[in-house]
Amino acid sequence: MKCPACGHDNPEGTLFCEECDWRMDQTPKKLRMGINSVYAAYIAAAVGITSVVSALIDVAWAATVFGIAGTAISGYAQTAVRLSHVKGKLRTTLVAIAGIGIVTSVVGMVYGLTMLF
Ligand SMILES: [Zn+2]
Repeated sequence: MKCPACGHDNPEGTLFCEECDWRMDQTPKKLRMGINSVYAAYIAAAVGITSVVSALIDVAWAATVFGIAGTAISGYAQTAVRLSHVKGKLRTTLVAIAGIGIVTSVVGMVYGLTMLF
């Protein structure tokens, strides 16, 4: 059975994923939150980096818009990780990726706003 969190293929009847310690029989809400947190963390980092790149190439509006969006998405990602059953290595990784999202988004947003006003 495939782990819903990391995609690792576990033997049938496994309770905890061998790769990331995901509990395979957890409730749908926690499961959904776990999946959301994976997507949100990566999207937040991508949006945050886009914001910084926009700032570096002097596109102030894009730096600001992506910065605000990235801050919101990374905040959601960290909440989703907390509400999910994601544990161990995957949890640390997701929190770190969402953290990159927050830092880059705030930097991009501040640069964008500085250029605009
Ligand atoms: Zn897993």
